[in-house]
Amino acid sequence: MNDRPIRTTVIGSYPFPSWLEFGRRHLDAFGPADIAEMQDDAVIAAVHDQVAAGLDVITDGEQTRFDFNLSFYGYLEGIDRETEPSRQWGPPAHDQRPKHAITGELQAPDGLGAVEEFERLQRLAPPDQPLKASLPGPYTLSGRLVPNTQYPDRYAIAEALLPIVQRELEALVEAGCQELQVDEPSMSCYAYKADTARMVDLFNRTVEPVAGRCRLATHLCFGNYKGHPVGRRRIAPMIPDFLDFKADEIHVEMANREFAEIELLERIAERKDVAVGVVDVKNYYIETPDDVADRIRRCLDYVPADKLAVAPDCGLSQTARWAARRKLKALVEGARQVRAAL
Ligand SMILES: [Zn+2]
Repeated sequence: MNDRPIRTTVIGSYPFPSWLEFGRRHLDAFGPADIAEMQDDAVIAAVHDQVAAGLDVITDGEQTRFDFNLSFYGYLEGIDRETEPSRQWGPPAHDQRPKHAITGELQAPDGLGAVEEFERLQRLAPPDQPLKASLPGPYTLSGRLVPNTQYPDRYAIAEALLPIVQRELEALVEAGCQELQVDEPSMSCYAYKADTARMVDLFNRTVEPVAGRCRLATHLCFGNYKGHPVGRRRIAPMIPDFLDFKADEIHVEMANREFAEIELLERIAERKDVAVGVVDVKNYYIETPDDVADRIRRCLDYVPADKLAVAPDCGLSQTARWAARRKLKALVEGARQVRAAL
């Protein structure tokens, strides 16, 4: 159960400052010390915006998952990282992200980098500020890798990634992380046509060693690459199987779906804390605090306040920073309004 009613939280990513975007395209112009300074500065900026908004829980904004070599696939051995996407031009969409060929045994001898990120966040965030770290689960992480004879399908790849993700989760807890989020949006996107019980088994075996040792959340959205969804945006196919997830909190997007299937929040709340996306990261209409308060009150028809957390629909990395800042402020203000009237 939440430590406070209508807890305000985030999913993880935050828009990069313009200079960081520039820097990551010109990494050759920087030395290791310059890059380390740039990474610290970017996290300081993301922390600042989240703390200024007044959020109960913050992340590092995933500001340092910015370079190909530093992203998760950059930590994996046994893949061809030089793959180009099959479609280079035209409107932005998921098929413009590269898919990597598997060339050997999948391994990550140096981990996935999340511990270093979390330690940086601990160093730069205000003392006593609750912090969250996020990591994609093995099913979602397997999505950019192409099956081969050694790993004949997506589940075979996910099984190979499971111990890698699991080790990283354990290391995060050992580093002092008290709140972990395992992102499995690929599970929510494909729940309508996949074996959901098999997905749950995969998720639960991944988190087994850390379940009960920290607050464990999962983020289940329908895609947001370049601001576009990719799934059939229905929560019903996830229920009831996903309620067996070994997680304390399940996050679902609601704002950009205009609160379709809101009644299903009641089913989730029977078993879990529910984090609800109440601001739309895809829309440049900026929600007012009153909008947010109205949406939260609608959620309270189905979820008790002490089991409800509110957040954006997804990470904010695909939303302009000025808009992200204003949306987070409205989120916190709207939650305060409703909390004050409880
Ligand atoms: Zn998402």
